[in-house]
Amino acid sequence: MDDAFIARMREALGGRLELLKAAGEATADSRAPVELDQASVGRLSRMDALQVQAMAQASEARRRDEVRRIEAALRRIEQDEYGYCLRCGDDIAEGRLEADPTATVCIPCASSRS
Ligand SMILES: [Zn+2]
Repeated sequence: MDDAFIARMREALGGRLELLKAAGEATADSRAPVELDQASVGRLSRMDALQVQAMAQASEARRRDEVRRIEAALRRIEQDEYGYCLRCGDDIAEGRLEADPTATVCIPCASSRS
């Protein structure tokens, strides 16, 4: 892997990580426990609130998962292991890393999945 390419991937990963962390703080309110006071909220709006909360939690789970993958990719960059397939050790194609800088396996390994 050439240094310029790795530096570009590190930028992309770092930028994405900042965005995700900012988004996590911005949406913390919508994941707060739903107020279950039947007197002040009707049954339907309570279900709406629960659904909104469930969606917020699902997207939060996806966000955390992506944060983990980005942090792992940045760690691989630090350890000079970035860009190598975790399964077979070959180089991961640059095009694949450009599409997904967190990719951990090469295209043949990803498509064989055995
Ligand atoms: Zn591979």
